[in-house]
Amino acid sequence: MSTCPITLITGASRGIGAACAVLCARRGHRVVVNYARDEAAAEDVARQVQQAGGSSLLLQADVSVESDVMRMFDSIDRQWGRLTGLVNNAGIVDVKARVDEMSLERVQRMFAINVFGSFLCAREAVKRMSRRHGGDGGAIVNISSVAARAGSAGQYVDYAASKGAIDTFTMGLAKEVAAEGIRVNAVRPGITDTDIHGSGGEPDRARLLASQIPLQRPGRPEEIAEAVVWLLSDAASYTTGAFLDVGGGR
Ligand code: NAP
Repeated sequence: MSTCPITLITGASRGIGAACAVLCARRGHRVVVNYARDEAAAEDVARQVQQAGGSSLLLQADVSVESDVMRMFDSIDRQWGRLTGLVNNAGIVDVKARVDEMSLERVQRMFAINVFGSFLCAREAVKRMSRRHGGDGGAIVNISSVAARAGSAGQYVDYAASKGAIDTFTMGLAKEVAAEGIRVNAVRPGITDTDIHGSGGEPDRARLLASQIPLQRPGRPEEIAEAVVWLLSDAASYTTGAFLDVGGGR
């Protein structure tokens, strides 16, 4: 791997992605800060990356749109060269609903962003990292969820199922590209204090569920980022196809 890693973090304009961007910068990465809609928030994260001593490249792309993903990777190639790290973090939830109330449109959007977006970014990353394609190797971290194990009954089974797909994707891709110099792992955060709960109609969710978490509190995005950045690093050189639960014991 390159001595100065070039790492793309999808959905880095806030929450876990933003924390990963800043921690990567502190650990010497050049950081591509991707966002979908909130340019001002993403610009702020790019500034924090620079304040942490890293360089940042700000790139808008909806990860569920193939042409956006291709444009984003082309920009990285042109401006910085071969990518060495990818964090597939961009993800959504939806409002609480039972499966028998879910529209096809809702489920398609959930899988388009959480699964197909991660798939598209991983595909383009492998083309740049793999020794089979002339690359120098690299590391991919997929952000799954404790929900992949729990199923999220009565809340958002579609979301949990999309993260289950991410787990299987991680397992398969890890084996597929291991001999080509790429490690692929997943982090499964538990309830983490970010804006995602507000977008699911429950802004206080993290605080309200605290008593059900063995550690008695939600996680902080920075605590999830520690696991992600370790998996990206050479300290995790013998770790691939692994799942790191960062859920306060859940
Ligand atoms: P968040 O605060 O809602 O942030 C989501 C980020 O994803 C934003 O930067 C958003 O960018 C971006 N995004 C959304 N749709 C996108 C798309 N189509 N293309 C590119 N970027 C997109 O979420 P978070 O809580 O940090 O969650 C990050 C990841 O952790 C997700 O995969 C989530 O499923 C997972 N996770 C979270 C928790 C938790 O409790 N927070 C628990 C387990 C797993 P814009 O604002 O610019 O649109």
